Amino acid sequence: MSECIFCKILAGDIPSTKVFEDDQLYVFKDIYPKADVHLLVIPKQHIARLDEVRAEHADLLSHMMLSLPQLAKSQGLDTGFRTIINTGPGGGQEVDHLHIHILGGSNLPGFK
Ligand code: AMP
Ligand code: ZN
Repeated sequence: MSECIFCKILAGDIPSTKVFEDDQLYVFKDIYPKADVHLLVIPKQHIARLDEVRAEHADLLSHMMLSLPQLAKSQGLDTGFRTIINTGPGGGQEVDHLHIHILGGSNLPGFK
């Protein structure tokens, strides 16, 4: 069985607060939110990191990106939102399953 905690969430072995899912994506609330709204968008396919993405993943990545505005809107983020992808230890990635953070709301920390 996979040791990946996000694969365990996908399998239902670890609980999560689901916001959305389709055949390619699963979206849930970050357990330690860094802002009023903090979602994680993950592919159902296990891809560890952005620097392991290949051309064959182009449609999946496109689908993830195109889903972001509607997901943000569904959380009331009408004036905009922040997206983050951490990659590898140098990028602060803690969970080795590709994920896009969506952050927003009045408690969004500065980024300077
Ligand atoms: P990163 O540092 O980009 O790898 O982000 C990993 C994120 O996953 C962090 O923001 C964690 O708070 C979040 N996280 C870790 N475990 C869980 C979990 N079981 N459910 C929801 N979010 C989680
Ligand atoms: Zn995984």
